[in-house]
Amino acid sequence: MVPSQPEPPPLPIGRLAPSPTGLLHLGHARTFLLAWWHLRSRGGRVRMRIEDLDGDRSRPELIDAAARDLEWLGLDWDGPAELQSDGGERILEAARELEGRGLAYACTCSRAGVRAASAPHAGETELRYPGTCRDRYPTWAAADRPVGLRLRVPSGPVSFRDGFCGPRAFDVQRQVGDFLIARRDGSPAYQLAVVIDDARQGITEVFRGDDLLPSTARQILLQDALGLPPPRWFHVPLVLDADGRRLAKRAGDLSLAELRRAGADPRAIVAWAARSSGQEVSGRPTAADLVPAFRLDRLPPTPVILPPAELTRLLS
Ligand code: GLU
Repeated sequence: MVPSQPEPPPLPIGRLAPSPTGLLHLGHARTFLLAWWHLRSRGGRVRMRIEDLDGDRSRPELIDAAARDLEWLGLDWDGPAELQSDGGERILEAARELEGRGLAYACTCSRAGVRAASAPHAGETELRYPGTCRDRYPTWAAADRPVGLRLRVPSGPVSFRDGFCGPRAFDVQRQVGDFLIARRDGSPAYQLAVVIDDARQGITEVFRGDDLLPSTARQILLQDALGLPPPRWFHVPLVLDADGRRLAKRAGDLSLAELRRAGADPRAIVAWAARSSGQEVSGRPTAADLVPAFRLDRLPPTPVILPPAELTRLLS
């Protein structure tokens, strides 16, 4: 009899999930390259999902731009790029399910109303929802005005282990309170959309910037409520400018599209992203050249500063 072999571990499935709210910049380039290297170096699959649900901020002309920028850097993915908005109805179904089970409730508060009712701490950019509508409407349909839907968030910390940052805990109720899962205009909100799409696409690993660590706790609450399998999480430090501010596509930081127009060599960007991530680099490699030797445990745990001189070098 042939001795049975132990089952090989399933290959990871991850995703690149740009939002078409602005042009991608060098910070995105580094995070997406790291995510791609981390998956491809272990034989993993990569899905491309354009997160275009934010109707107020998404710009249709940027939908293709993100994919083009990433291709220019040398990244590829398995299967066609998907638009998050194509699955909008499925996401709303999950919102309705949560409401039907009493885990979410209708809310008619406007953003201005929430701001007036809450007292954010100095420097806080997120408002905590004080629960104004918690017991106001028996059902979503019973509200007399345009309504959103909020998750009933339990009090106490939500803990998880991040594959890069280690153990983390966030008290979601204290930070943001009952957060929106569907907005007053009837569209699904970001947290629920990510959770439903990750499950639908079979995502086993989520790899992204560490500015989204607090969102992870919210997404875990939704996965628990919906009985969806939790992926493994990897959150990596962001790229900062010379003043220590994070690069922001809306603040006019140099975009990949501009670098490309100015004749920059994508391999110089790849080399910078790899070198700043503790990988061994010689010359100007393609993204694919760096797959075999990639090691996430070489990535420094601190943000990367991008001084202007580095930019000049990227353009030379
Ligand atoms: N679309 C989000 C962004 O561009 C990323 C969401 C995620 O990776 O879960 O910031």
